[in-house]
Amino acid sequence: MIFVLRPGHSQEELDHILELITDSGLTPHVSRGEERTIIGAIGDERILQSLPIESFPGIEKVVPILKPYKLVSTDFKKEKSVVDIGGVPIGGEKVQVVAGPCAVEGMDMLSDIARQVKGMGAMLLRGGAYKPRTSPYAFQGLGEEGLKILAAVRDETGLPVVTELMNIRYAELVNKYADAIQVGARNMQNFDLLKEIGKMRKPVILKRGMSATIKEFLMSAEYIASEGNSDIILCERGIRTFETETRNTLDINAVPVLNSLTHLPVVVDPSHATGYWNLVTPVALAAVAAGADGLLVEVHTNPEKAVSDGGQSLKPSKFYDLMERVKLVAEAVGRHA
Ligand code: PEP
Ligand code: MN
Repeated sequence: MIFVLRPGHSQEELDHILELITDSGLTPHVSRGEERTIIGAIGDERILQSLPIESFPGIEKVVPILKPYKLVSTDFKKEKSVVDIGGVPIGGEKVQVVAGPCAVEGMDMLSDIARQVKGMGAMLLRGGAYKPRTSPYAFQGLGEEGLKILAAVRDETGLPVVTELMNIRYAELVNKYADAIQVGARNMQNFDLLKEIGKMRKPVILKRGMSATIKEFLMSAEYIASEGNSDIILCERGIRTFETETRNTLDINAVPVLNSLTHLPVVVDPSHATGYWNLVTPVALAAVAAGADGLLVEVHTNPEKAVSDGGQSLKPSKFYDLMERVKLVAEAVGRHA
């Protein structure tokens, strides 16, 4: 960390800063220029990052050198991590596709969708049993019954299942049935939930909060990793901007930015990012071209009757088209799907 002192700072102010640095176990190096005094603090500065140093007397500017996250960063681990979900590797050469309905609505529909998407190349099945709905009057999910349906369809089709955990109360239950736990955008900064998931030995798909910066997103992943679970997959699902033509705005930049900052696999959800089924495929292709390790796509056999997110759900025939085109783009960028 570098401290730039104000012109005309007092000796007392300088001593106070030096004391803070040494008390924190770091070594200060003072450099006196003609106009400015600069102090470099050598050591793991993260201990200082939570202090209000910028407002200390005599300080003009503080420049952190280390990132506030550690375990998830490429500084900590250079090679890309591959996260295994029920035997399906995410983060390897193959672009993996997770497909399924927004919500588990029943056994027959889930089994039907699962068999169809599996035949078209999806490797994992998604479906919410606990749904984070904006309205308390909207369908909230089938709860444990939904989890049982997911597990039964996994057993029937062999597709590992991904489902959202919204509340610590259901952690054990969801852990029992799911192959991977999804943390929804609205819970990205539910730190107690993240810590609980960090104690589990289960892969996590962490979705980016709709108003979270990339740094905040990585700090949330760090919460999980710091508790011992590093099987984390990051999911860019669109952020909220001033644009109203689409449900969210896919931050395509996030894909290469995350790939440079973290070793964790990065997937993209073009369904929630756009909100409209006809935009899902082009945006999915852009994500693969930008370096996404996978896609999370909502598919429904009868979107008009879907209990949630029907408007952004692909019919199986459209999902087939998406898969065909994803294969081409994956190959064009040196991967396969
Ligand atoms: C979902 O995947 O169905 C979902 C609710 O996603 P998000 O948390 O990204 O809104
Ligand atoms: Mn949804």
